[in-house]
Amino acid sequence: MLKKYNFYAGPAILPHDVLVKAQKELLDFNGIGLSIMEISHRSKDFEKVITTAESKIRNLLNVPESYSVLFLQGGASLQFGMIPMNLLQGKSADYVNSGAWAKKAIKEAKHFGTVNVAASSEDKNFNYIPKNLNFSQNARYVHITSNETIGGIQWHTFPETGNIPLIADMSSDIFSRGFNTSAFGLIYAGAQKNMGPAGVTLVIIRNDLVEASAENLTTMLSFKTHVEGKSLYNTPPCFAIYIIKLVLDWIESLGGLKAIEKINNQKADLLYQTIDNSRLYKGTAEISDRSKMNVTFRLSSEDLENQFIQEALESGFIGLKGHRSVGGIRASIYNAMSLEGVEKLTDFMKEFEKKVSG
Ligand code: PMP
Repeated sequence: MLKKYNFYAGPAILPHDVLVKAQKELLDFNGIGLSIMEISHRSKDFEKVITTAESKIRNLLNVPESYSVLFLQGGASLQFGMIPMNLLQGKSADYVNSGAWAKKAIKEAKHFGTVNVAASSEDKNFNYIPKNLNFSQNARYVHITSNETIGGIQWHTFPETGNIPLIADMSSDIFSRGFNTSAFGLIYAGAQKNMGPAGVTLVIIRNDLVEASAENLTTMLSFKTHVEGKSLYNTPPCFAIYIIKLVLDWIESLGGLKAIEKINNQKADLLYQTIDNSRLYKGTAEISDRSKMNVTFRLSSEDLENQFIQEALESGFIGLKGHRSVGGIRASIYNAMSLEGVEKLTDFMKEFEKKVSG
């Protein structure tokens, strides 16, 4: 069978070793003669999985004791609403409008208070990270999207917000690089790009924000419920959490976030160099804000883009079509995509350019 290189934006590529391990353990987890999918979420065996996953996350991201680590459902999209529902309480918050995902977060926050758009890059179709941030004095928090999966832009340094808690949607770049967790009040991320399968959302929240959360919310939408229940108030997505644990083992085996970041830089550099050295491909993002996870570019016509996507597919490169809202090409090069995979893609790109340029 033709070797497949998976560039989907999400759900996305998982480390091969993780899939092999999961397959091996699928029918008999830990020698108990049952699948991890068919045991109680309150069993010793599952408890070990979830507590190990949590402690690995705490280690990798240096999460202080004063934060809670939660495994929730509803995707990052539920957090767009759940965060303001818990934290806004009719007050106002600052949001940076950096793209399609930030925009969705803003839309949901408006149900629960006032949104001050501290900066926006909508004037240039979200091809850059806004620089002049107009934070307000009385904001309950500042919300950013660390990597815009559709626009292909990424914050390379995070804004200083002083005493105002910084909240980040890190769905598409969590675990791709090191950062200072203590600089954030809350971080959230859907698992299905860099962490595991769809169905579980990681939330890391500072405990004073949990304590200050709204009372009398419907039980499942209250952070307090999940902190008190240690993510086991109800049945969590057990299998997805188990896969996260395997992915974290894999990250550790490579040498942690520093090592991952180094490989991610090499992959992104190679791909952007190929784009910049060609006459056919044009990157869509401002160079300084280019995403190292989602590399977006265009060809000179839609016809040529369709031909590129089709021929790439025939050569084993899957998932390169840009998001339906913006078109073009997007190569998502999450942690599990190897440098070799990016090399193969860039070889293909050069060959394609030679061919169509005659
Ligand atoms: N935020 C970002 C940055 C995303 O890329 C996505 C999904 N592509 C979401 C939020 C929404 O995530 P979910 O589908 O898990 O709700």
